[in-house]
Amino acid sequence: MSDYNQQMIEQFRGNFLKEVESNVEEGEWVKMCMQCGVCSGSCPFGPHWAHPPQEIFMMIREGEREQVLTSDSMWMCTSCYNCIVRCPRGLPITHIMHGLATYAKRLGLAPKEQPTAKFAQLFWDNLTKTGRVNELKLGLALYFMNGFSEGIKTSLKMKDIGLGMWKTKRLNPMEMVGGHSCKDTKGLQAILAKAQEIEDAKIGRSGA
Ligand code: SF4
Ligand code: SF4
Repeated sequence: MSDYNQQMIEQFRGNFLKEVESNVEEGEWVKMCMQCGVCSGSCPFGPHWAHPPQEIFMMIREGEREQVLTSDSMWMCTSCYNCIVRCPRGLPITHIMHGLATYAKRLGLAPKEQPTAKFAQLFWDNLTKTGRVNELKLGLALYFMNGFSEGIKTSLKMKDIGLGMWKTKRLNPMEMVGGHSCKDTKGLQAILAKAQEIEDAKIGRSGA
């Protein structure tokens, strides 16, 4: 268990709703849910998730901390906004779902093998290196994220598309040995480090 997770358990002592209100983006809206089920009924993927939004909000209020934070349901949200436009109470459901996913990741409770969580980390690591997405490296990282043999199989499957992109100058193999970057990479990284410092101070976290 991460130190940060332990710290939050001790701080909120079983009051998971309060914990969500304090730490999750738009979390203070959860108590406004009247359990009508419109969001879950409107969500194109909800029926395929372990816990659609309405159920997640009910579980938060019931204090089912572990089940909520280790769930992969929040990671499946595609930000289609169907739920938000239909919620009679005006809850920012999409933002809460993403906020819960982010909080679970900070605590070290997000499911390790969840593909969206893995891709989000790959994308962030790729982007923040130079301030520009290196599509070639990102694509390869994505192919190989589930292991070497899986990566080879996917690369072979996609080779015709890759060649087509190269021929039409949509993909530059030289990106493998450097690639383009923003004008002031160091400045960007200093901004990100400061933003992280502010965020850590805001949530009372140190080195988590
Ligand atoms: S539509 Fe809104 S009020 Fe209804 S269950 Fe979903 S979040 Fe709650
Ligand atoms: S925004 Fe997310 S939770 Fe809302 S309906 Fe779309 S996929 Fe479902």
